[in-house]
Amino acid sequence: MALINENFLKLKAGYLFPEIGRRVRAYKQQNPDKKVISLGIGDVTQPLAPAVVEAMKAASDEMGKIETFHGYDDGGTGYEFLRKAIQHGDFQSRGVEIGLDEIFVSDGAKCDTGNLQEIFGIDNVIAVTDPVYPVYVDTNVMAGRTGDADEKGRYGKIVYMPCTAENNFTPVLPKEKVDIVYLCFPNNPTGTVATKEDLKKWVDFARETKAIILFDAAYEAFITDASIPHSIYEIEGAKEVAIEFRSYSKTAGFTGVRCAYTVVPKELIGYTKDGKAVDVNPIWNRRQSTKFNGVSYITQRAAAAIYTPQGQKQIKDIIAIYMNNAKTICKELAALGYTVYGGVNAPYIWMKTPKGVSSWEFFDKLLNGVQLVGTPGAGFGASGEGYFRLTAFGKPEDVKEALARFAKLKV
Ligand SMILES: *Cc1c(COP(=O)(O)O)cnc(C)c1O
Repeated sequence: MALINENFLKLKAGYLFPEIGRRVRAYKQQNPDKKVISLGIGDVTQPLAPAVVEAMKAASDEMGKIETFHGYDDGGTGYEFLRKAIQHGDFQSRGVEIGLDEIFVSDGAKCDTGNLQEIFGIDNVIAVTDPVYPVYVDTNVMAGRTGDADEKGRYGKIVYMPCTAENNFTPVLPKEKVDIVYLCFPNNPTGTVATKEDLKKWVDFARETKAIILFDAAYEAFITDASIPHSIYEIEGAKEVAIEFRSYSKTAGFTGVRCAYTVVPKELIGYTKDGKAVDVNPIWNRRQSTKFNGVSYITQRAAAAIYTPQGQKQIKDIIAIYMNNAKTICKELAALGYTVYGGVNAPYIWMKTPKGVSSWEFFDKLLNGVQLVGTPGAGFGASGEGYFRLTAFGKPEDVKEALARFAKLKV
């Protein structure tokens, strides 16, 4: 008899995006003549930068010739040309030294953030912000690191750190003992950033309590404020306690190309049950080399092209399109009397729903009233109730039309 992993049965049914899809499909079926505009998607819409496309074409040609063909990427942690570009372009340029053997190239930050928990013991207590990117929680549920979900969808044994307007969407240090802390800045879904002082508090906390921080920096390229750190390693001592995730998905429109990387510093240590210090970097290396065989040569060449002067300019121009959308959304919604957060250093706008209207009620009003789709804040956690997420990833003409419709919405 094949027994299944019953932890999967603890997962809440009707995960956020399938439920949104279901409601949108039902509406379209009943109203086939109406055009629905989505500001709900966490996917990009602009095409790849020309420098990236050229690099992919050139790499394809190389793969077609015996002299320049490439097989497995040795070790599966990324070709050296890409890891060198990362080392210089993302870290040295900000005064941070990261070793080539601390960089692990992968096919996505979703899988990295999801997979990383498996190198840590099952008894670790994890802490997450509420609202949160659901991947951090669900992968720990699957692993058996949590209890069951309550009626609000909060799992036993997880420490939730509420992030609401009252605390400026900034998590406060947990009072209870925690071992692994997930942080995401700039934040999806709230669009909040962490200052150097905010991150220093977390680094100090982790050093004092021997905890590890899993830092998701998937949106660092959207930071416009020069004082905001792009990497947690800009904080002294962070290499002892933090793993950082990066992705080209939003930075360079790679959601359909697939390339990302994770930094696991050599200084980072975990512990055995009897308190012996263990290096984490070789363990992640062992895990990756066993379960993963690397990212395609063509894709890694595409990623390296992002770091060239033309690549940098082109992706910055694309990001500017999205951030201009964000600015317009914030400005016009504020003018309509809505309270909006984020949208300055992140492609997400986190708005308050009108008084007395729940996240899902607001979703239905927008869809049925003016054919707009966004994401109910409650879908990201109990503390997201009363909020609603809009993304800046739409096409500018759709954003314009969406805002005209917002003006017509009656709540
Ligand atoms: C989009 C996103 C990612 C990137 O995932 P990929 O698998 O690299 O496409 C990572 N973290 C968060 C919070 C995201 O929103």
